[in-house]
Amino acid sequence: MVAMKDTHITMAHGGGGIAMHALIEEVFLEAFSSTGKKGVQEDQARIVLADLVAKGDRVALTTDSFVVDPLEFPGGNIGTLAVCGTINDLAVGGAQPVALSAAFIISEGFERIRLQRIVASMAETAQQAGVSIITGDTKVVPRSACDGLFITTTGIGTIQPAYHISIAAGQPKDVLLVNGTIGDHGATILCARGDLALETSLRSDCAALHGLMATVLDAVPEVHCARDATRGGLAAVLHELAEASGVCVCLEENAVPVKSDVTGLCDILGLDPLHMANEGKLVLAVPPKYAQQALAAMKAHPLGRDAAIIGQLEAAPNGKGSVHLINSLGHARLMTLPSGEPLPRIC
Ligand code: MG
Repeated sequence: MVAMKDTHITMAHGGGGIAMHALIEEVFLEAFSSTGKKGVQEDQARIVLADLVAKGDRVALTTDSFVVDPLEFPGGNIGTLAVCGTINDLAVGGAQPVALSAAFIISEGFERIRLQRIVASMAETAQQAGVSIITGDTKVVPRSACDGLFITTTGIGTIQPAYHISIAAGQPKDVLLVNGTIGDHGATILCARGDLALETSLRSDCAALHGLMATVLDAVPEVHCARDATRGGLAAVLHELAEASGVCVCLEENAVPVKSDVTGLCDILGLDPLHMANEGKLVLAVPPKYAQQALAAMKAHPLGRDAAIIGQLEAAPNGKGSVHLINSLGHARLMTLPSGEPLPRIC
């Protein structure tokens, strides 16, 4: 077959002919087909409605594009990010992920073996998460039109009737939790770009959070807010929460878990771990009476061993949300968001 003989992707692989069909069959269907069968290919995947209805009263739908540079880094690659990122955007709505689509924009000249490696890790990540990649698309563009590989994933999931999680549902006195150290992904990508000549043992925290979220929801069905802290870091999520819920977010600076390597890197570069991207961090706001239960549930899960209570919500005097950083002496200062994108192509 044509695709297997070619070591690099060519424009022919996006041309709709024999080369494209071979690429789809030998690279994508080989990895993503759960049965190993490559039978009839329809123009759409089909999901039995009754299966969805049996699992919830709402369908959640989300989409995200991934343009990370470099494509491969310690702890993951663009494919694992694409699977986990979309699963996580479903999970933080209380949705159980059901299926994903994956669209690939590949630049001419991309190494076939590298594409297969990334696709294989996507398939493995999805399989471990119990989610199928059921439809997709491939486009090949000239070298100048795309830097290597971009992936867009879309996911659907089902939400059980009991869950009503919203970024606008935060209440005064709610307790804030995070499932572990922040900034690991952003710091890893910075180091992986190779401009800094720094040796660290950092790895991306890239992980699918739906299992952790289900564990927390089993223990505490009344989670008010949940977000995965990705681009813009913990700071961005807290600002979104403050604004949408109209509350003051009070973040205890010393309670936020940060690895010493991340702190060190941020100190050298004048960056703030609170603004560094994560790909496996869940931020929750729960009623105070459930805070310890939520913390215990997180800590009992492999992805929540370093979980911590990091602050609480307070009433905003005029209903206008804001984020305040409380230091060890109890002094508060207003936390603002950076105006631009400090680290482009982080996810
Ligand atoms: Mg998100």
